[in-house]
Amino acid sequence: MTDRLYLDDDSVTTFEATVERALDDRIVLDRTGFYPTGGGQPHDTGTIRLTDPGETETVTRWRVVDVEMKDTVYHTVEPAEDGTTAAVTDDGATGAVTDDGTTAAVTDDGATAAPPEPGTEIVGDIDADRREAHSRYHTAQHLLSAVLLREFDARTTGNQLYHDHAHLDAAYDRFDAADLDRIEVRLNELVADDRPVTSYTMDRADAEATLDTDRTRIDLLPESIEELRIVEIGAANADDSRSETDGEPYDRTACAGTHVGTTAEIGEVVVTGRETKGSDEERVRFALAEHVDSGE
Ligand SMILES: [Zn+2]
Repeated sequence: MTDRLYLDDDSVTTFEATVERALDDRIVLDRTGFYPTGGGQPHDTGTIRLTDPGETETVTRWRVVDVEMKDTVYHTVEPAEDGTTAAVTDDGATGAVTDDGTTAAVTDDGATAAPPEPGTEIVGDIDADRREAHSRYHTAQHLLSAVLLREFDARTTGNQLYHDHAHLDAAYDRFDAADLDRIEVRLNELVADDRPVTSYTMDRADAEATLDTDRTRIDLLPESIEELRIVEIGAANADDSRSETDGEPYDRTACAGTHVGTTAEIGEVVVTGRETKGSDEERVRFALAEHVDSGE
């Protein structure tokens, strides 16, 4: 399994790695900072370049257009399209060329650019703006899940985030306009609290004894998973008049996604609407304030 760097430090946006496998236009690395699609969070994008460009005059670079998790993390790559970054070697080829040529991509100038071969040392550069947006939306989703459970006894049943909007499904009869207002106010109070967001690993048995089963369905996780990554949103400060706890975290759940370091980094959140998803299931739409006013 590829070592997933974002699990230990989701602020990493540049990393070095070695190509382990190359399959058509997909590569497997020994370690990666690229987040693969999962848990309602879209994959990262970015580029991969050779650590040592060798004799070429320009940097050989591939665009990472998809990242997915199967038995390990697969990165779908294609040659960088802008001529400034695609390398052309003496024989006119870009990067390594496969023997049969059938899987090699072709750039605008006719050069062939297969993915980097196994053993190649590369540098991965993740699109930091897209990652940051996903981390902000993902952390906002944790807050929303916690608010709905604490204040409406509504369990989250699904969620999907994008770089400029998101939605969450919850087991609930019907949120009315006053409910949505209350949810939005509460979310922004939690943002203003600037609560710390931390992650750590926990043994499965400990997690089963500790986590709220209405917030985390550990029973749905494969039995092969023995350690869980826990993401925690901290308690309110002791002098917070709304302090609802005796030092217990506001929210705690198992999650392998990326998040920001404090709730203030999310920024203002707007609840943009709701719809019925089925019997006793509601969808709540939300967005960061900066994504709401622009032309919609
Ligand atoms: Zn998460």
